[in-house]
Amino acid sequence: MQLESMYREIILDHYRNPHHKGLRDGYRAEVHHVNPTCGDEVTLRVHLSDASLGEAAVIEDVSYESQGCSISQASASVLTDLVIGKKVGEALGIQEKFLELMQSKGESAGDEDVLEDAVAFAGVSKFPARVKCALLSWMALKDATAQALAAEGVKNHG
Ligand code: ZN
Repeated sequence: MQLESMYREIILDHYRNPHHKGLRDGYRAEVHHVNPTCGDEVTLRVHLSDASLGEAAVIEDVSYESQGCSISQASASVLTDLVIGKKVGEALGIQEKFLELMQSKGESAGDEDVLEDAVAFAGVSKFPARVKCALLSWMALKDATAQALAAEGVKNHG
């Protein structure tokens, strides 16, 4: 129980004081994702150092604008802390771990070494309707990263 209230505090803290929020210029891809079951929306931009490096490119910035419930907004804030400055391949590995945690139906506690504050969402995985809230910005990140790399491919071969 104590752990759950600590996790609730982490989520509320990110919701009240979101990290890296706001859309910034100098980006390679922008996506807009919606979670219609809750009404959450996120516009997310990804900037890569050198997209021609593929998964070895560094995520220089992730900026976003979002509206919706506390879970969706806190999740976007936690995401930026985890992936800015990481290589694309590494960030996608973290995304995969978070996806596994959210699909665990409350069975997994999450790997804190990899997920840091994102383990606070472990309890959310027990509530299928809220899982989509927590995953919204992570799906947007995956989409934006793929688009940023694809755009580079077109440039190189076109
Ligand atoms: Zn929501």
